[in-house]
Amino acid sequence: MEIQISRRFNGPEYDMTCRSSDNVLFKLNTKDIEMHSNMMTMFKSGNSKGGDGIDNSDKEVPSIALTETSSVLELLFQFMRNQPQPELTSITFTALLSLTVAAEKYQVYAVTDRCKVRLRECIPQHPLQVLDLAANHKYAALMDEAAPHTIELKLKDVQSILKPHVFNAWIRYHRTWMDLLHDAYTYQEPTRWHWEGFRDKVGVKAMDSPCEVWTEVWAKVAHRLAAKPESLLQVDDIFHDTQEVIGMRCMSCPKWIEDWHKEVKYQMSKQPKFSTFM
Ligand SMILES: [Zn+2]
Repeated sequence: MEIQISRRFNGPEYDMTCRSSDNVLFKLNTKDIEMHSNMMTMFKSGNSKGGDGIDNSDKEVPSIALTETSSVLELLFQFMRNQPQPELTSITFTALLSLTVAAEKYQVYAVTDRCKVRLRECIPQHPLQVLDLAANHKYAALMDEAAPHTIELKLKDVQSILKPHVFNAWIRYHRTWMDLLHDAYTYQEPTRWHWEGFRDKVGVKAMDSPCEVWTEVWAKVAHRLAAKPESLLQVDDIFHDTQEVIGMRCMSCPKWIEDWHKEVKYQMSKQPKFSTFM
């Protein structure tokens, strides 16, 4: 394939070149590369991990062949020059993943930090891919944020993306969500007897039959939980919606519902984070 020259990195002042996997040549300054990355040290020490080291096919300056595509390098090298840095909001998610991997490989920390911010924004659309990448690079905060969004995914999809040891961690993490769901179901029983009038008064007794409002509300909550752990992520909405069912029908039920809601939230707050399973 014929070698093309990058339109952006083609100035007359350069003392090295890099060639992308799709044969685009970038004319660069060693000073910039050394200041913003560990790329030169890696190549000098022969620890290029994918580049094939110094290639002296260009007789005038050192040339390095890299395994990344030109679109990734085009972005990466922009972060190594004293110029306004590109926005990552306009690049595709696939490009973002490739850029993050390249930035980690060459230790371009200005890029890795920007990538983490953008990856966090992509969690709702791509939770599994973000979790995979975060686990591979030990980004604890990012994997902890992405993991809850993956508990609803099909097992075969999770297994097809995550590396075996990460998948193993995911299975154990998912189990904690199932335990949490069990606790949420069983914290309150489906029947409840209130006291007639004020309990402290003389002559007050428990009701003869269970409160029908409570049973209805309990069933609504159980139905919304639907035996799916991911429904716990909507727990505030689930309990909030019970207010409409209760209305003015029972004065005792709201406080038991509130107690139930608080308990579930408390248990969720204590739940171990994904990174602790790694
Ligand atoms: Zn009641």
